Amino acid sequence: MQTVPQMERLLSDATKSIMCCPHCKEIVPCPVVKSEGNKQFIKHKDIQFRERKRACSACLQVFKTTECDYKSLEELILKRDEVQKLLQENNKLKRKIHAAQEHLSILQNRLSE
Ligand SMILES: [Zn+2]
Repeated sequence: MQTVPQMERLLSDATKSIMCCPHCKEIVPCPVVKSEGNKQFIKHKDIQFRERKRACSACLQVFKTTECDYKSLEELILKRDEVQKLLQENNKLKRKIHAAQEHLSILQNRLSE
């Protein structure tokens, strides 16, 4: 967490940006307090990003952001949609399996009578 004098110094920097704080949800200046060079995912060398640590000027809490190319963000959104569809399909299959197990149990009980 940043102290108030540290935050005042940071707010005077040219690097401040208006952002939505993930902690307090206020849309306020959240200046960069630390910036890392370009990184990449080891398993996905085509995904590169820049990591920044920011401090919220409203609640003073620190959080990380990443800057990546827009194409990577679009791919992430597409993959998230695909995962949602798979999860919905998985839930439908689970319900069908559960119903089939109940029918099987009823049949087994009738056979044992
Ligand atoms: Zn905040």
